[in-house]
Amino acid sequence: MRPSIGTDPLLSIGEMVISHEAGDPFELVLLDAHMPGLSGFDVARQIRENTATQGVPLLMLSSVDLTAQTRFEAESTVDLYLVKPVARAELQGAILKVMGQPDAAAPVAIPAMPIPVIAPASTAGDPTRALRVLLAEDNKVNQRLAIRLLEKRGHHVTVADDGKAALAAYASQPFDIILMDVQMPEIDGLEATRTLRPREAPTGKHMPIIALTAHAMSGDRERCIAAGMDDYVTKPIQRAELYQKIDALLKPSVMA
Ligand code: MN
Repeated sequence: MRPSIGTDPLLSIGEMVISHEAGDPFELVLLDAHMPGLSGFDVARQIRENTATQGVPLLMLSSVDLTAQTRFEAESTVDLYLVKPVARAELQGAILKVMGQPDAAAPVAIPAMPIPVIAPASTAGDPTRALRVLLAEDNKVNQRLAIRLLEKRGHHVTVADDGKAALAAYASQPFDIILMDVQMPEIDGLEATRTLRPREAPTGKHMPIIALTAHAMSGDRERCIAAGMDDYVTKPIQRAELYQKIDALLKPSVMA
C-alpha cells in the first residue's frame, strides 16, 4: 500500500479525482470524523457524490462515542466506523474487512470485537426482484462501486476478478445476468463472452450480458455486440444507467 496523507479535505478529494482519472485510483480512505472546517461526514458525503470517488471503501475514526445521529450518518456514508484509540490489530482487521474479499462488501454482522463497528446500512431499499449477478471486473474500486449499486437494489453479487474466473463461475452456479468488464487480465470480456455463448446454446437459454467499458469510443458498442454482449455501460458506472439497462434486459417479456 502507498499511503498519502491529506490535511485539507477538499484538496484530498481533488487528489482522489486526479488519481482516478490517471487510472490509479485510491483503494481506501481513512477519515477522521472531527476535522477543522469540513467534518468527516461532509467529506464522506462529497466522496460518495463524486462519480470518480464514490466506490472507494471509507473507514472513519472518531475520538468520541456514537450518538444516535452520528450512528445514522455513519451507516449511510462510510463502510466502517471505529472509536479511537484504535489498536494496530483492530485497524488491520477493519482495513481487511472493507478492502479484502469480495464478500467483505456484503453487509456484515457486527463482529465480536471489543470496539464499536457499524455494518453498512441495510441494502433492502428497492422492491425490484433480487437477481443473481455475476460481476466480472478486475479493478477493485470499480468492483466496490458496482457491488454497492447492485446490493442497494437487493441483488446478490458474485465477483470474478478476470474472464477466466468469470467462465468458471458461470459453469458452476446459476446467474440471472452478467456484468462483464471488457479489459481484464487472463481472458478479456469480449473473449469470455465469445466463449460463453456456444456453451449456453444447447440449453436454449440466453444469458443477458452487459459490458462494462472504460471508454465510450465509437465502435466499442459494435465490438461488444459482435462478441455476443447485449448492451454496455461506460465507466465510471452511473447508477441510473446501470439500473435502467438491467431492467431493460430482464423485463419479463424478454425473459420468456
Ligand atoms: Mn478492467
